[in-house]
Order: sequence, then structure tokens, then C-alpha cells
Amino acid sequence: MPPAHPFDFDAVNSDGDKLKEECGIFGAVGVTDAANFVALGLHALQHRGQEAGGIVTHDPEHGFNSARRFGYVRDNFTSQRLMETLPGPIGIGHVRYSTAGSKGAAIRDVQPFFGEFSMGGAAIAHNGNITNADALRRELVERGSIFQSSSDSECIIHLMARSLQRNIPERMEDALRRVEGAFSIVAMTRTKLIGVRDPLGVRPLVLGKVGDGWCLASETCALDIIGADYVREIEPGEMVVITADEGVQSHHPFRPQPSKFCIFEHVYFSRPDSIIGGQSVYETRRQIGVELARENPVEADLVCPVPDSGTPAAIGFAHESGIPYGMGIIRNQYMGRTFIEPTEHIRNMGVRLKLNVNRALIKGKRVILVDDSVVRGTTSRKIKEMILDAGAAEVHFRIASPPTAWPCFYGVDTPQREKLLAATMTEEEMRTHLGVDSLKFISLDGLYRAVGEAKGRKADCPQYCDACFSGEYPVEPADMIKKGFVMKAAE
Ligand code: SF4
Repeated sequence: MPPAHPFDFDAVNSDGDKLKEECGIFGAVGVTDAANFVALGLHALQHRGQEAGGIVTHDPEHGFNSARRFGYVRDNFTSQRLMETLPGPIGIGHVRYSTAGSKGAAIRDVQPFFGEFSMGGAAIAHNGNITNADALRRELVERGSIFQSSSDSECIIHLMARSLQRNIPERMEDALRRVEGAFSIVAMTRTKLIGVRDPLGVRPLVLGKVGDGWCLASETCALDIIGADYVREIEPGEMVVITADEGVQSHHPFRPQPSKFCIFEHVYFSRPDSIIGGQSVYETRRQIGVELARENPVEADLVCPVPDSGTPAAIGFAHESGIPYGMGIIRNQYMGRTFIEPTEHIRNMGVRLKLNVNRALIKGKRVILVDDSVVRGTTSRKIKEMILDAGAAEVHFRIASPPTAWPCFYGVDTPQREKLLAATMTEEEMRTHLGVDSLKFISLDGLYRAVGEAKGRKADCPQYCDACFSGEYPVEPADMIKKGFVMKAAE
């Protein structure tokens, strides 16, 4: 890992006060120079993982080739020299933020992973988290598997190696039937691009058509960047096997189950210009703001988003409440690498490096701040201080998700439960802790209404995964329970 530059970090999130997006995956087949498409797709998915990225391609003349690098896609996969080492009409790629495997990882943990089988090679890129990976790994190691990485995803390659099926897609089906948890996968052989979603469909995966070829991506924004047409979502529990000649073949290898898509994708993880379930993510977030304003009105002079993720909800809140919307906090878009040698004083500025208050707008106003979530509360406190320093008369927080009181085990990096503010405090205690005039969260039902479930959440069979809010985990996190995690008691 290259040494971290003191400015080369997410100042807003440097104290882990946002849930970290999981990973982004992309694949293309039947196109000239697939690696270029994959690199562009990964660039559009960079918000899902900034730690590292990798691409594998296959070309009949040169076989499989791969490149895995730390850092942003734009800093690595724009080099002509590197891209020339990745020839071929088929390729897959992955951007990662480590959700399993070592934190501050080694290059061996960077996907895609590759395996050479008797019927040929295969590469695989995984978004999600395998909740029984420890048990599988132990079993596989006892039976002779030699792991190259500390990633849960590598289990899939070893399970495939042990399968007795005759081709790669069938071996993958075999392997995935042993796997519990959340997975969206793109994989490739010499000629086939494969996409799979777990039976609950926790993580997203979409299919696109580009010229004569096909592509798979975590989100539709990655189709837009390469000019691909959106075809459809891969269904929960579906496997698609795509070749340049025969197009898309669909299989359903798993027992059907009610889907449990991650509701937090709507709130925060996905890009606002993506489409999920036929709905614009931006519009859903705006609607969350509308619901939030209906549920939690307050007299005020100004509605301000905490940029950027709070923006659509703040627009919806302002529209519904009739209170003027204003950019009371401005984000420094260029808070990336810099050559200034920072002093201790500058490093301690934290949030102020990335966000600044628009004093002229804030002074003397009763301000409603709309944010997407409260995790530890550290950033919320700092932002509140900045707003008060700028002369605000009152500060009211409105949060576009219910209190995050439980960790995610399905591919999102969450602090331990006791570090989540909502796990240890009531709403009123959180308000006092943050030192704001009022603090209100959207209700779970309100969130469900905003994502298009007019009657709200079905308590007996929720339409989404909402475990980080409700504590009701659709897949038992077996490894974590063995490590001492205590599930919510049944009511
Ligand atoms: S626990 Fe939360 S973040 Fe994780 S998959 Fe479920 S809704 Fe998404």
C-alpha cells in the first residue's frame, strides 16, 4: 500500500462516520478492447470503493491477463501502457473498499480473483459479504485448499475447484449453493461473462447492451458512461451466462425466496443518477425528504443539505415544508491530493477541509440540516458547531434514514454495534449529545413509502433488507454470532 498522504483521505469520513460503500463490479463481453469499457465502468462506480481496483481480460492470443492496483481507477487504468497489457473482447473488474479481508489491505486481497481449472481459467469479482466464510474457509483449508488472500470471496474459487461439475457456470452454481450472505458476482471464462445475484438480491446487478456486446454492472450509472442501453436488473437468485455469439442465457439455480434488496442503496450507497427497480435514486431520495418533512415538521428559515448525499432529501424537505432551500454548506470538490505539506494544525481541521459554511446565508437563521444518516455522530457534531459559529440562531437535524442501530454483515463496513450512536442512546439522548435544537429521523414506514411501498413496511415479511435499522437480519450472520454478536431478541 502506498503511504497515505495526510490530505489524501476523506475528511468528512476520516472518523468512520459514514457507512462505507461496499464494492463495485463491472464486466463486458463482445466488445473491442473490453478493458477500456471495464475501466470506464469502474470509474463510474468509484463511489462504491476507493481503496483499490482490478481488471482481468482474456484474449485468444495472449490468454488471461490481469492488473490490480491500489488507488483510484483514474490514477491507474488510464495509462496506455497498462491498458495495452489487458487485451481482448471480454473482461471484468472490481473496485473495492475492504469489507472482509484485511483492512488497509495487501494487493493479494484486491479482486478479481483468478483460478485455473481443468476446463480452463475463470476470474471472479464479488460485491457483498459471505456470512459463513470463516466456517467455509476452515473446512476448505482442512481439506487442502491453499488460500492466497484473506478475502471471504476467495472461498468461491476454492469451492468451484472442488466441484465435480463439468463446466465453470455449473461449478459456480455448486459453489454458491454453499455460500450464505449477500453476493452479486461478475465472473468470466475465456468466452463467457457470468453474472449472479444471491437469492435475496441484497446487492444490485444490472444488465446492459453496448453495440454488439453486453455488460454487467453494479449500477446503471456505469452503463451510461460507456453509452450502453439498460436492459434489466439481474433478478434475485438468477445467474446469466452471456457469450458474444449466443447472447444471454438465464438460469435460476437457487430456491426462490422473497427478495431483500438493501434499502440503504436507495438512501445513500447508489449514485443519485442510477436507476433501481425502475426508480430514479435521485427521485427516491427527494421523496424521502418529502416524507421526512411530513413526519417531522419544524418552524425554520432555511433547509440546508449536508452535501452531497443529503442534497436530494433536502430539496424534497424544502418543497414539502415550503421553507426556502439554500446551500448553507459548500463542499470543496477538489479535496483530493495536494502537494501542500500539512501541519498538525491543518490535519486536525478534519471536516473543515472538505466542508465550509456559507456564512452570509446562515447568519441569524433557524437552520434545518438534512443528512442521509447518523452513524457515530462525530461529523454531525462538527457540522453543527460550524453552523453555530457562522451565527445560526437554531440548528435542527433531519435525517433521511431511521436510526442506524445495528451493524451490516452484507458487504457494508459498519462500526461495531456499541460505536453506533443509535445503539446506545435514545433519540432525545442523541439530540443532547449532538447539542442541536431538535433531531428527528424518518420512520421505517416513511422510508418504505418513499421507496415506493405505499402501505409501508410489512412487519411479517419486510420487502427490503433493513437490518441496520431494525435489527432483523434476513440471513443469520453465522460467523459473527460465533464471534459473540448477539442478535436482537424476538419480540
Ligand atoms: S444491513 Fe443495512 S446496509 Fe446492510 S444490506 Fe441491510 S439495509 Fe443494506
